[in-house]
Amino acid sequence: MSEDRENRTPNFIRNIIEEDLASGKWDGRVQTRFPPEPNGYLHIGHGKAICLNFSLAEEFGGKCNLRFDDTNPVKEEDEYVQSIIEDVKWLGFDLGDTIFYASDYFQQMADFAIDLIRKGLAYVDDLTADQIREYRGTLTEAGKESPFRNRSVEENLDLFQRMKNGEFPDGTKVLRAKIDMASGNINMRDPVMYRILHASHHRTGDTWCIYPMYDWAHGLEDSIERITHSICTLEFEDHRPLYDWYLDALETYHPQQIEFARLNLAYTIMSKRRLLQLVKEKHVNGWDDPRMPTLSGMRRRGYTPESIRTFAERIGVAKRDSMVDMALLEFCIREHLNAVAPRYMAVLDPLKVKIVNYEGNGEFLECINNPEKPEAGSRKVPFSGELYIEREDFREDPPPKFYRLAPGREVRLRYAYFITCVDVIKENGRITELHCTYDPQTRGGDAPDGRKVKSTLHWVSARHAIPAEIRLYDRLFNVPDPSNADGDFLDHLNPDSLQTTQGYLEPALQECRTGDRVQFERKGYFCLDPDSAEGRPVFNRTVTLRDTWAKIEQKQSGD
Ligand code: ATP
Ligand code: MG
Repeated sequence: MSEDRENRTPNFIRNIIEEDLASGKWDGRVQTRFPPEPNGYLHIGHGKAICLNFSLAEEFGGKCNLRFDDTNPVKEEDEYVQSIIEDVKWLGFDLGDTIFYASDYFQQMADFAIDLIRKGLAYVDDLTADQIREYRGTLTEAGKESPFRNRSVEENLDLFQRMKNGEFPDGTKVLRAKIDMASGNINMRDPVMYRILHASHHRTGDTWCIYPMYDWAHGLEDSIERITHSICTLEFEDHRPLYDWYLDALETYHPQQIEFARLNLAYTIMSKRRLLQLVKEKHVNGWDDPRMPTLSGMRRRGYTPESIRTFAERIGVAKRDSMVDMALLEFCIREHLNAVAPRYMAVLDPLKVKIVNYEGNGEFLECINNPEKPEAGSRKVPFSGELYIEREDFREDPPPKFYRLAPGREVRLRYAYFITCVDVIKENGRITELHCTYDPQTRGGDAPDGRKVKSTLHWVSARHAIPAEIRLYDRLFNVPDPSNADGDFLDHLNPDSLQTTQGYLEPALQECRTGDRVQFERKGYFCLDPDSAEGRPVFNRTVTLRDTWAKIEQKQSGD
């Protein structure tokens, strides 16, 4: 633990908690929470918030609640609840007895509302939604008081009761806090606490036909759960005075809210509304499409929970919004997969090679499973007189710095032999096959006469190869900040974000199960997709072996 703590990036929230523990502010308790609204799948920004809240609780021997902020029956579904639970567990956090639902507090919230009415601090308003907006005023202009603002306590209690009983249609009345229509903070201009909505809720069914507004509910949820540090994103800074007002007026338990900057990741989007649009309009193949910034998409793509946690820790916690480079996330993925993923050979764009002087019927060669992990051992890979190599590893007319295979040139086949290209076979101008010779004395090693080759290629024996579909991904959008770019964000979708190839795998890859992560030598890290069928694997490329984003940046900046 202590070594672990030394590796952590300092962050101002941790400092606040440490000070609170030192001063005994919360009787030594640390209670955080992650409060998603179940109206979509979680993305990497939520991942960041999950890691922050759960890790802080873990670090200080506290607890973190997963709380579903399910106060809006219209947009919420159980499918989302289940996906969120799965994602949090996948990230590696324990959910033992810490799953809560705001909807379980509906009765308590209504009681709190009655308390405010009794104190003369809330009233039932008959203005329409449009009128309320109009009366609210602007940033430079004070708002106007509603003509219903000074109803008596008795009348308000009666009307609120009848709202609850379902006597009024949707939109005809609301309950509002009586604060200050001239406040410089618009959130304080008599915010709506309850609206009438005759809609079924995914958990409470038709029990309620009034539903609490987010700003009314949120602080109460934190208070009911006795949260100590209510960590949220910066956009709630202006709402904090309202949460404080509610809790002070109710004279109830009052957590400390701390704001931090949202995670924004370049070349993608973090808005649930827009992610939903991508799914609904089928710009991607579902929430877990490996191009999506969702945790389920990243999981399907082959990202590991460990690497996402490392990423969340490394980016730290900021007070100001910024854009994080995708290269940092991919660096974390690569670093972890490099340590854990076994190596295999696979050819993504095959070119046939015939070894014209190979006479045997085939043989097995010893290949190392993971040079980073000696205990991973080795495996036997079949070799024969007909192979596939990568089409891009051959050039008939090689440019100056191309050291791979070319007519008359000798290269090494990984773990196998030196080969020399002696003939190029074409059909209609397209190269269909290479004829090569091999040097039997170079088996698994160097040439006895000490001659050198300048490159090593991966390969697969044609007779033993398993055909596979391989999905290669590129960034989902063409611009770093699609949400703020000109025009509609959809205009900036990258049409080449998914490329599919038909490749060949070495036979050992047959043993992979869905979700297994491997390295294809020289080609990147890959993960077996659930679309795979018996004898027909489908692999997603998780990430390339080297940083390709730097190149993209260079191209974009014109050098
Ligand atoms: P919306 O409220 O518009 O549906 P949201 O992304 O804020 O979208 P929530 O379900 O309210 O979704 O988010 C749950 C928690 O995750 C909140 O506490 C929020 O602050 C945090 N969160 C959301 N997006 C990010 C992000 N990009 N970076 C860090 N934390 C985030
Ligand atoms: Mg939100």
